[in-house]
Amino acid sequence: MTRCFDCGAERISDQCPACGLTSAAAELVFRRRLVNRTAVFLVGSLAFPYVSQIYPPLDLDLMLVFFGLLFFVALTLAIILDRRARNRQELEVLKRIYSGFIPLPWMLAALLFLNGRLDNPKNIVYHPTTVENRFYQRGLLRVSRRLLVDGWRAGQKIERLPVDADDFDRFQDGDAVLAGVEPGAIGIPWYYGIYRR
Ligand SMILES: [Zn+2]
Repeated sequence: MTRCFDCGAERISDQCPACGLTSAAAELVFRRRLVNRTAVFLVGSLAFPYVSQIYPPLDLDLMLVFFGLLFFVALTLAIILDRRARNRQELEVLKRIYSGFIPLPWMLAALLFLNGRLDNPKNIVYHPTTVENRFYQRGLLRVSRRLLVDGWRAGQKIERLPVDADDFDRFQDGDAVLAGVEPGAIGIPWYYGIYRR
Protein backbone atom coordinates (compact mmCIF):
# COMPACT_ATOMS: atom_id res chain seq x y z
CA MET A 1 0.00 0.00 0.00
CA THR A 2 1.31 3.44 -0.88
CA ARG A 3 0.93 6.63 1.10
CA CYS A 4 -2.03 8.87 0.36
CA PHE A 5 -1.20 11.10 -2.66
CA ASP A 6 -3.05 13.98 -1.05
CA CYS A 7 -2.04 14.10 2.63
CA GLY A 8 0.81 11.58 2.73
CA ALA A 9 -0.75 9.47 5.49
CA GLU A 10 -0.10 5.75 5.46
CA ARG A 11 -3.03 3.91 3.95
CA ILE A 12 -4.26 0.49 4.95
CA SER A 13 -7.36 0.41 2.78
CA ASP A 14 -8.35 2.21 -0.43
CA GLN A 15 -9.81 5.06 1.60
CA CYS A 16 -7.28 7.26 3.42
CA PRO A 17 -7.84 7.16 7.22
CA ALA A 18 -6.59 10.76 7.57
CA CYS A 19 -8.29 12.76 4.79
CA GLY A 20 -10.94 10.28 3.70
CA LEU A 21 -10.08 10.36 0.00
CA THR A 22 -10.09 7.15 -2.00
CA SER A 23 -6.92 6.47 -3.99
CA ALA A 24 -8.68 7.51 -7.21
CA ALA A 25 -9.85 10.81 -5.68
CA ALA A 26 -6.43 11.46 -4.16
CA GLU A 27 -4.82 10.88 -7.56
CA LEU A 28 -7.14 13.43 -9.12
CA VAL A 29 -6.49 16.01 -6.39
CA PHE A 30 -2.76 15.43 -6.60
CA ARG A 31 -2.58 15.77 -10.37
CA ARG A 32 -4.64 18.94 -10.33
CA ARG A 33 -2.30 20.42 -7.74
CA LEU A 34 0.68 19.30 -9.81
CA VAL A 35 -0.62 21.31 -12.79
CA ASN A 36 -1.12 24.40 -10.60
CA ARG A 37 2.34 24.15 -9.07
CA THR A 38 3.93 23.63 -12.45
CA ALA A 39 2.13 26.75 -13.70
CA VAL A 40 3.57 28.73 -10.77
CA PHE A 41 7.01 27.41 -11.67
CA LEU A 42 6.59 28.28 -15.36
CA VAL A 43 5.49 31.85 -14.66
CA GLY A 44 8.50 32.24 -12.37
CA SER A 45 10.64 30.94 -15.20
CA LEU A 46 9.50 33.88 -17.30
CA ALA A 47 10.13 36.34 -14.45
CA PHE A 48 13.80 35.38 -14.25
CA PRO A 49 14.81 36.16 -17.86
CA TYR A 50 12.65 39.28 -17.70
CA VAL A 51 14.43 40.70 -14.65
CA SER A 52 17.79 39.65 -16.07
CA GLN A 53 17.14 42.03 -18.96
CA ILE A 54 16.55 44.97 -16.62
CA TYR A 55 19.50 44.26 -14.31
CA PRO A 56 21.68 41.87 -16.33
CA PRO A 57 24.37 40.22 -14.20
CA LEU A 58 27.87 40.11 -15.69
CA ASP A 59 27.68 36.33 -15.39
CA LEU A 60 24.34 36.18 -17.18
CA ASP A 61 25.31 33.39 -19.57
CA LEU A 62 26.53 31.21 -16.71
CA MET A 63 23.31 31.90 -14.81
CA LEU A 64 21.21 31.08 -17.87
CA VAL A 65 22.94 27.71 -18.20
CA PHE A 66 22.23 27.00 -14.53
CA PHE A 67 18.69 28.19 -14.97
CA GLY A 68 18.15 26.03 -18.05
CA LEU A 69 19.33 23.02 -16.08
CA LEU A 70 16.97 23.85 -13.23
CA PHE A 71 14.10 24.22 -15.69
CA PHE A 72 14.85 20.90 -17.36
CA VAL A 73 15.14 18.97 -14.07
CA ALA A 74 11.92 20.48 -12.68
CA LEU A 75 9.87 19.67 -15.77
CA THR A 76 11.28 16.15 -15.88
CA LEU A 77 10.26 15.72 -12.23
CA ALA A 78 6.75 16.95 -13.03
CA ILE A 79 6.40 14.44 -15.86
CA ILE A 80 7.69 11.58 -13.68
CA LEU A 81 5.33 12.59 -10.86
CA ASP A 82 2.37 12.64 -13.19
CA ARG A 83 3.22 9.23 -14.59
CA ARG A 84 3.76 7.72 -11.14
CA ALA A 85 0.47 9.14 -9.92
CA ARG A 86 -1.36 7.55 -12.87
CA ASN A 87 0.29 4.24 -12.03
CA ARG A 88 -0.48 4.72 -8.30
CA GLN A 89 3.19 4.46 -7.37
CA GLU A 90 4.79 5.94 -4.23
CA LEU A 91 5.27 9.74 -4.58
CA GLU A 92 6.27 11.08 -1.17
CA VAL A 93 10.00 11.75 -1.70
CA LEU A 94 9.73 13.05 -5.27
CA LYS A 95 6.79 15.22 -4.26
CA ARG A 96 8.92 16.94 -1.62
CA ILE A 97 11.85 17.42 -3.97
CA TYR A 98 9.55 18.94 -6.58
CA SER A 99 8.02 21.31 -4.02
CA GLY A 100 11.52 22.62 -3.39
CA PHE A 101 11.89 23.52 -7.07
CA ILE A 102 8.69 25.57 -7.38
CA PRO A 103 9.89 28.78 -5.65
CA LEU A 104 13.43 28.68 -7.09
CA PRO A 105 12.87 30.74 -10.28
CA TRP A 106 10.91 33.30 -8.22
CA MET A 107 13.70 33.49 -5.68
CA LEU A 108 16.33 33.92 -8.39
CA ALA A 109 14.25 36.64 -10.05
CA ALA A 110 13.71 38.43 -6.71
CA LEU A 111 17.42 38.17 -5.93
CA LEU A 112 18.42 39.74 -9.25
CA PHE A 113 15.75 42.40 -8.92
CA LEU A 114 16.78 43.49 -5.41
CA ASN A 115 20.45 43.28 -6.40
CA GLY A 116 19.89 45.89 -9.10
CA ARG A 117 17.02 47.89 -7.61
CA LEU A 118 18.72 48.57 -4.28
CA ASP A 119 22.02 49.44 -5.89
CA ASN A 120 23.16 53.05 -5.91
CA PRO A 121 23.94 54.66 -9.31
CA LYS A 122 26.86 56.38 -7.56
CA ASN A 123 28.51 52.97 -7.42
CA ILE A 124 28.89 52.62 -11.18
CA VAL A 125 32.46 51.85 -12.16
CA TYR A 126 33.59 52.43 -15.75
CA HIS A 127 36.13 49.89 -16.96
CA PRO A 128 38.19 50.85 -20.03
CA THR A 129 38.25 47.86 -22.34
CA THR A 130 38.17 46.81 -26.00
CA VAL A 131 35.53 45.00 -28.05
CA GLU A 132 37.02 41.68 -29.16
CA ASN A 133 34.06 40.04 -30.76
CA ARG A 134 30.29 40.19 -31.17
CA PHE A 135 27.89 37.35 -30.62
CA TYR A 136 24.34 36.99 -31.82
CA GLN A 137 21.94 34.13 -31.25
CA ARG A 138 18.26 33.82 -31.92
CA GLY A 139 16.71 31.64 -29.24
CA LEU A 140 13.24 30.22 -28.76
CA LEU A 141 11.89 33.15 -26.74
CA ARG A 142 14.40 35.89 -27.26
CA VAL A 143 17.50 37.05 -29.01
CA SER A 144 20.89 37.08 -27.29
CA ARG A 145 23.27 39.86 -28.24
CA ARG A 146 26.66 39.93 -26.58
CA LEU A 147 29.66 42.18 -26.94
CA LEU A 148 32.75 40.22 -25.94
CA VAL A 149 35.24 42.62 -24.38
CA ASP A 150 38.59 42.17 -22.63
CA GLY A 151 37.98 41.18 -19.03
CA TRP A 152 39.01 43.18 -15.97
CA ARG A 153 38.02 40.75 -13.25
CA ALA A 154 40.64 38.36 -11.89
CA GLY A 155 40.59 35.10 -13.82
CA GLN A 156 38.12 36.48 -16.35
CA LYS A 157 39.79 36.81 -19.76
CA ILE A 158 36.64 38.00 -21.46
CA GLU A 159 33.37 39.60 -20.37
CA ARG A 160 30.23 38.81 -22.33
CA LEU A 161 28.18 41.98 -22.06
CA PRO A 162 24.45 41.51 -22.73
CA VAL A 163 23.66 44.54 -24.92
CA ASP A 164 20.53 45.75 -26.70
CA ALA A 165 20.14 45.93 -30.48
CA ASP A 166 21.32 49.57 -30.68
CA ASP A 167 24.55 48.98 -28.80
CA PHE A 168 25.13 45.76 -30.67
CA ASP A 169 25.02 47.58 -34.02
CA ARG A 170 26.88 50.64 -32.75
CA PHE A 171 30.14 48.87 -31.91
CA GLN A 172 32.64 46.96 -34.00
CA ASP A 173 35.54 44.65 -33.17
CA GLY A 174 38.50 46.66 -31.91
CA ASP A 175 36.46 49.61 -30.60
CA ALA A 176 37.80 51.21 -27.42
CA VAL A 177 34.94 51.37 -24.95
CA LEU A 178 34.01 51.98 -21.33
CA ALA A 179 31.90 49.29 -19.69
CA GLY A 180 29.72 50.62 -16.88
CA VAL A 181 29.23 48.08 -14.11
CA GLU A 182 27.44 48.29 -10.77
CA PRO A 183 28.60 46.12 -7.88
CA GLY A 184 25.08 44.96 -6.96
CA ALA A 185 23.35 45.46 -3.62
CA ILE A 186 23.91 41.82 -2.70
CA GLY A 187 27.21 41.47 -4.48
CA ILE A 188 26.21 40.24 -7.95
CA PRO A 189 27.96 42.67 -10.34
CA TRP A 190 25.67 43.73 -13.16
CA TYR A 191 26.11 45.44 -16.48
CA TYR A 192 24.90 49.03 -16.65
CA GLY A 193 25.91 50.31 -20.08
CA ILE A 194 28.61 50.64 -22.69
CA TYR A 195 30.13 53.89 -23.97
CA ARG A 196 32.66 54.96 -26.57
CA ARG A 197 36.03 56.03 -25.18
ZN1 LIG B 1 -5.05 11.28 2.78
